[in-house]
Amino acid sequence: MEYASTRGQIRPVGFSPAVMMGLADDGGLIVPKTIPDVRDRLDGWRKLSYADLALEVMAPFIGDIPRDDVRALIGRTYDPRNYGGPVAPVVRVGGTFVLELFHGPTLAFKDVALQLLGNLFEYILARNPEGSRELNILAATSGDTGSAAIYGVRGRKGINIFVMHPHGRVSPIQERQMTTVLDANVHNIALEGSFDDCQRIMKELAGDLEFKKRYSLGAVNSVNWARVLAQIVYYFSAAADVQKLTGAAKVRFAVPTGNFGDVLAGWYAMKMGAPISGLILATNENDILARFFNTGEYSLADVHQTLSPSMDIQVASNFERYLYYRVAQDGERLSGLMKEFSRTGKLSIPCEARPGGANLADKDFRAASATTADVLEAIRQCHSRHGYVLDPHTACGWAVAEKFSAGDPIICLATAHPAKFPAAIEQATGRSDLARHPKIAALIDMPTRSSLLANDKQAVKEFIINKLAGC
Ligand SMILES: *Cc1c(COP(=O)(O)O)cnc(C)c1O
Repeated sequence: MEYASTRGQIRPVGFSPAVMMGLADDGGLIVPKTIPDVRDRLDGWRKLSYADLALEVMAPFIGDIPRDDVRALIGRTYDPRNYGGPVAPVVRVGGTFVLELFHGPTLAFKDVALQLLGNLFEYILARNPEGSRELNILAATSGDTGSAAIYGVRGRKGINIFVMHPHGRVSPIQERQMTTVLDANVHNIALEGSFDDCQRIMKELAGDLEFKKRYSLGAVNSVNWARVLAQIVYYFSAAADVQKLTGAAKVRFAVPTGNFGDVLAGWYAMKMGAPISGLILATNENDILARFFNTGEYSLADVHQTLSPSMDIQVASNFERYLYYRVAQDGERLSGLMKEFSRTGKLSIPCEARPGGANLADKDFRAASATTADVLEAIRQCHSRHGYVLDPHTACGWAVAEKFSAGDPIICLATAHPAKFPAAIEQATGRSDLARHPKIAALIDMPTRSSLLANDKQAVKEFIINKLAGC
């Protein structure tokens, strides 16, 4: 499989360079040149383990790594002894289904992709004949991504990771999930500033091309193609599980959405031929995507803080991949749209009028946003009716799924374990004993390490240089 950029300005590359590149060199996102159709293989896949299914789903996208090596990488990643638990079990909750994606090391769905990405980086670096054998990852986090990225690469050969978080402004659990990792290749930076400062410094350092090249700087953010690819797999596994449980010909998925990475993986699965009749996109009050799918207009608004911080996003970094297909893979037209968006904060695509008066941007999607009140009510009701505790991100998906309940069975993606968000669970249910997990409880007594740095690009740059020099 060859990969292109959504902006059409790079030469086609294979899978491994695409993974190492992250963002394409022309500023676009990496996309596969074709989407394989696997419809006639689905029956044969039903009996496969998760790891074997992952190999079948991913292999057509990976041309430049021998199949046996891919099998070994995937096997190691999703072996429960390494991963910490099952990858994507489905449980029935009332009349709907929950796809629990939070059994990995940091109890969030990002582990599914970042655990694999860490293994891929290590493998590609070790084989890299002429390129660098070292990768130094720089990341800025407001919470969840940082710990999942750290767990993805901790202890790996040839890789260092530097994660900046805003000092005193991430939740105590999220901070401890990062700073209790003491591997020598993990460097936590508590920056005396805001999340925006962290992100600005990261972008400035990544834009310092001489520094970037000299120190082999890379990124793990959600635009990396391997992250989307790893997430396609569980749409196939969950659809097959629920078909088995219900006999339904097709299923739908409700996906709590921020950067549009997870639901985009569902869309790819659908285009590959997974038995999916529709995707239900759920946002919190940061509703740019819900507005887009209902009106065809994508327009910026202010960022609100909510109970689901990993979805407190306005510009969805993976949305460009979807738009690329909406303009018939025309890189030039897409570049025009993205330029218009960065100039005016707005872009729009034509909508079709549909029965019922709804004006929808895409028949494959239904979309709505959940308010804080909706989320608290969903957590409370789901617990009192079914004895099942939803985390606040999953609760957004649950609340929105209820609006679209008529139709094929719905599978709600559970993207985080509720124990990561005890305050929201207590606010919803009045109980402090519902959101517990031994991994979270254990954090309290563990030693931590992090470096407090001034809100200054030069200070961060010197810190990185010193650490890499072994000081
Ligand atoms: C990252 C995250 C999301 C949003 O996923 P996207 O791929 O960014 O849309 C939802 N829930 C949780 C818990 C997350 O960490």
